[in-house]
Formats: sequence, structure tokens, C-alpha cells
Amino acid sequence: MKIAILNKGKEGKYFNQYPLIEEEDIFKSDRLEEGDLFQIKSSTNIYIATCYVGRQHKGLGWVLSYNANEKIDTHYFKALFETARETRNYYYQADGTNAFRLFNGEGDGLGGLTIDHYDGHLLIQWYSEGIYQFRKYIIEAMQAVFPFKSIYEKTRFKHNAIQSGWVLGEQPQFPIVIEENFTFYNVHLDDGPMTGIFLDQKEVRKKLRDYYSENRTVLNLFSYTGAFSTIAATKGAKTTSVDLANRSRQLTEENFGINGIDPTTQSIYVMDTFDFYKYAMRHGYRYDTIVIDPPSFARNKKKTFSVTKDYHQLIQQALRILNPGGTLILSTNHSMYTLNAFKNTIKSTLANEGVTYQIDEVMGLPKDFKTTSHYKPSKYLKVVFVTIEH
Ligand code: SAH
Repeated sequence: MKIAILNKGKEGKYFNQYPLIEEEDIFKSDRLEEGDLFQIKSSTNIYIATCYVGRQHKGLGWVLSYNANEKIDTHYFKALFETARETRNYYYQADGTNAFRLFNGEGDGLGGLTIDHYDGHLLIQWYSEGIYQFRKYIIEAMQAVFPFKSIYEKTRFKHNAIQSGWVLGEQPQFPIVIEENFTFYNVHLDDGPMTGIFLDQKEVRKKLRDYYSENRTVLNLFSYTGAFSTIAATKGAKTTSVDLANRSRQLTEENFGINGIDPTTQSIYVMDTFDFYKYAMRHGYRYDTIVIDPPSFARNKKKTFSVTKDYHQLIQQALRILNPGGTLILSTNHSMYTLNAFKNTIKSTLANEGVTYQIDEVMGLPKDFKTTSHYKPSKYLKVVFVTIEH
């Protein structure tokens, strides 16, 4: 097997099970190609771990095992998947939910790969060419371990050409209608990088429905397929969804429709968020709950937006159209934007605006998005619920 010797002083990090191999930690190595297995060793030639080469923006590859004799084959992946399946027992049995993440990369012991369960249709996402080279073993192991109707895949490593395809089982018809906390959502596995629903927000959606929707007006910014709007409307909220993308209108109407909500009773704007703020102010529109869940970076004709630099603007403007006693649900999935930094932005913005407020809740990833304490960026989701008193 190929060998990579670490720089002196870097072994501690990997002995402590840091799962991602970072190029700058390597002193010298054999020539490493995508999909190669290699061992990392200390500068004193002590074995630390067996890894594979799978370049992502994050690093060179991921640890597979801490046992030098472990064979990386179907059996290896079966053991990994069996553990993953057992920790999802709750979701397999939950009433009113049939979609969840089944295998969450490094959180489940192997980075570079995720598997989602959409009412029995399993979606594999391959994040590097390297992990894709283990495809045969992985699919064999999945067949042996997970119950499924079909297996579907998406390659995430060819940046401009995300490829999706049916692998085996019953060929799915899109949209697949999934259920989550007794609410229905359409899912398209064949449509670019996204599927129509972000499963990591399931608990945030539920909290929105249970505590911030009844008898309220709810504004959903960066609404995509209107998942937050849909669940809020099931509790009687009067919702407004805003997204720049044209396709969002129809997808949002369809999600209302499959939940028995007449889309004409709800408002949908295909508009830039900042333009919408101006529009709402001009018209005197006000909301009781405002959900802000932007992409980490966004670009439109006029400007670029980065959550780490510009989140405060979203909050400032939202305050101008929030009813007294209203709640902001502030979300970011940027892995390098820490919860502390995000909270500091929220607090300093609210202090500058001179409002009194209360943080009701801080939420992160649900249990199916399993994370590892050895790799902090895996806890990427941060959602802060703030009620503005006056
Ligand atoms: N909150 C959504 C997911 C948002 S995905 C959910 O829970 O399902 C990000 C969305 O932001 C995309 O649909 C994209 O079209 C939209 N978007 C990007 N820039 C935007 C802008 N400037 N104004 C409004 N929407 C924008």
C-alpha cells in the first residue's frame, strides 16, 4: 500500500482521529491518485490510519480505518452501513416521517459520501472521484444492509456537470412525494445539486409549525420550494414566499397542493430578497414570523452577498417589516461561520438597532445528520430563533 509520512508534530491530530487528510500535513508520500488507498505514518514511521485519496475542496482524502490489516471491500462497507442503519432505527419507525439521512459522511465514519432515504428511494451523493472508485463495493453493501425500493446516485465532483442517475431497483418516478412530520413534500432526484427539500432542516420546520405559525403571517425569504411556507400553512399561517429563481413559484405551489392548501390563498414572489424588503416597506406589509435561510454566497445582477459579511443587512431590513412581538428565524449552513460568530452578528445588529429581544432557541443538525466531535465543520447548521420584544 502507498505511504504518506506526516510532518513532525502533526501526528497527534491524526492519532486523535481527525478524519480529513490535509495536504499541508504531509511531509512526503508516494504518488497519490484518486481512489488510491494509502497509510499515514508518523515521522518515526508508526502506522496511524488507512485512508483513500478523494480530493474535495476540504482536503486530500479521508480516513477509512485505524486497523492496518483491514481490507477495504464490501465487507468493510457493510459493517459501516450496519452501524449507520442501527442509529436510524428511530427514523425507520417514526410515524409521519419517511425521509431522512441514512449515512452522513465522516459523521458515520467515512467522509466523501452521503446516503439519503426518500420513502425507500436511496440517493447516494459522491463527493470525489476517489470515493466513486469504491462504487461497486458500496452498492453491494447497500443492497445487503438497507431496505430500499431503488438506489439513485448523484456525482458532486464534476463541478459544472452534476450527473444523476438510477442505479437499480424500481425506477423512481419524479416527483417522489415524501412525508416528514406529517407534511408532504415533492422530491426530484434528477434535478441538479438540490432535491427539493433540505432534510437537515426538519426540526426547524417542525418548530416553526408548532410554535410560530398559528394565527401568524409568515415571511419565508430564500424560499426555494417553499418547504417552510408549506409546513407553516398547514397550521393556518398566511405565508409569503420570496425567491429569485423562477422555478420556485411552481414548486412552491405544488408543495402547497399536496398538503391540501390552495396556493391562491398564499403569496409567492419571484424577487430578490433585498428588492422584496423595499417593496414590502413601500406597501406597509408586516409579518409575525420571518424565516431567513440564505445560501452562503449569492449573486444577482446587482451585487454579491456573502453570509459571513452581509448577514446583518438581512436582519436590519427584516426588523423594519416585523410586527411587534414577532420572531426572526435566522439560519446559516456555512460550515466556516461558527455559531459564536453568527450569534455575535445577531446580537450586535440587534443592539445597534436598539431593540429588546429574547433568544428563544438555538438549533443545529438533527440526529440523522450524524456528526463527529473530531471534525468541527461537520456541525454546519446553525439556526437562531429570536423574538423581538419591542
Ligand atoms: N430556505 C430554503 C432553501 C434555500 S436554497 C429551504 O429551506 O428549502 C437557496 C435559495 O435562495 C435558492 O432557491 C435561490 O434561488 C435563492 N436565492 C439566491 N439568491 C437570492 C436572492 N438574492 N434573493 C432571493 N432568493 C435568492
